[in-house]
Amino acid sequence: MPSSSPSSATGAVAHADDLADFVASSPSSFHAAAEVARRLEEAGFIRLDESEGWPAPAGGKFVVVRDGAAIAWAVPSTPRVASGVRIFGAHSDSPGFKLKPKPTTGRLGWLQAGVEIYGGPLLNSWLDRELRLAGRLVLDDGSSVLAATGPLLRLPQLAIHLDREANDRLALDKQAHTQPVWGLGETESADILGELAREAGIDAARIRGYDVVTADAARGATFGRDGVFFAAGRLDDLASVHAGVVALERAADDHDGDHIAMLAVFDHEEVGSGTRSGAAGPFLADVLERLWLSLGADREEQLRALAASWCVSSDVGHSVHPNYAEKHDPVVQPVLGSGPILKINANQRYATDAAGAAAWSGWCAAAGVTGQEFVSHNSVPCGSTIGPITATRLGIRTVDVGIPILSMHSARELAGVSDLWDLARVAEAYFRG
Ligand code: ZN
Repeated sequence: MPSSSPSSATGAVAHADDLADFVASSPSSFHAAAEVARRLEEAGFIRLDESEGWPAPAGGKFVVVRDGAAIAWAVPSTPRVASGVRIFGAHSDSPGFKLKPKPTTGRLGWLQAGVEIYGGPLLNSWLDRELRLAGRLVLDDGSSVLAATGPLLRLPQLAIHLDREANDRLALDKQAHTQPVWGLGETESADILGELAREAGIDAARIRGYDVVTADAARGATFGRDGVFFAAGRLDDLASVHAGVVALERAADDHDGDHIAMLAVFDHEEVGSGTRSGAAGPFLADVLERLWLSLGADREEQLRALAASWCVSSDVGHSVHPNYAEKHDPVVQPVLGSGPILKINANQRYATDAAGAAAWSGWCAAAGVTGQEFVSHNSVPCGSTIGPITATRLGIRTVDVGIPILSMHSARELAGVSDLWDLARVAEAYFRG
């Protein structure tokens, strides 16, 4: 990719189309982490294994995957440990459904999938859509393979004739009404894991464990007047993961500083981040320590590096909704298409402070991008993200940002085409220093 920063609509449209590819290749967190690594390897990054020794890092570009998480970094040829690391953080998981044990169920001639609810999806948005299954299968020899089906399942909504109040209040029972159909016949002669095994080219009898989720089968697409909108599943938070990958690829070879540029993609944000591949786990701290040890940094130099480092934590935020204006702050009203958002919360649901706000505005200016701010209506609870967790764990100065979207946690979310590209450009400016 060229290292210029075109602000033209063409750049933004191409970026959105590339994001549609990225989302299609990333139906589960495991696929997203693998796709981050695949793209970066294609751009010359070296894939490392956590259980092996790592090479001398100076001048190198590396990526490591831990389950559904990935961390990648680019080291200048003459790195200065005390200059710290510029981390761009995001998450690979999205709300939806996850296969239960004994997942092949059904009744009355229908085949169904036994699923749990993962995170906080807008359940109604998952109705009447064709869904894929995707995730990780662990086999009898301990190896794991990624597998994804095409359109396979659907949660059919009850007809209006059978529920005359559906338009006034749609009540969905989290167990009874969320088990998707995927075929017809007897459960004894069916195996939903076999559908994944066939896609992966393995024998289903070899499967010993699985982490498998649902994803919207429809491809991301632009629409609206002048094509200003982009809709896709999992924009929360693949829009940020993708921006980070694009930015790191572009900045990796020739950034100006002596700092290290790093992308950190965590799993399990939607369920609290408290896992070995989540932001509250040790993954990032482990990678930073190994990186600094390999540069010969002692404990004091490592603490100096932490003090000089930054984390830009990127996750989606709420655009003002024209039909629900009362839900938003009456003055601070970010809208699709007017740039990335800086997220602010007095109660530290977001990690942004004055120093972070000032730094972010500098990176936006360096990229030639105009940003917006987000703050909650005082009577509407604020969400949170990986920013405060990272700041608390490592003490790194952190700023929470993202793009404004509508339909957050819907099976298909809505973003502005220009914001997606603007976020990637600011991330690139940040990496470059
Ligand atoms: Zn998110």
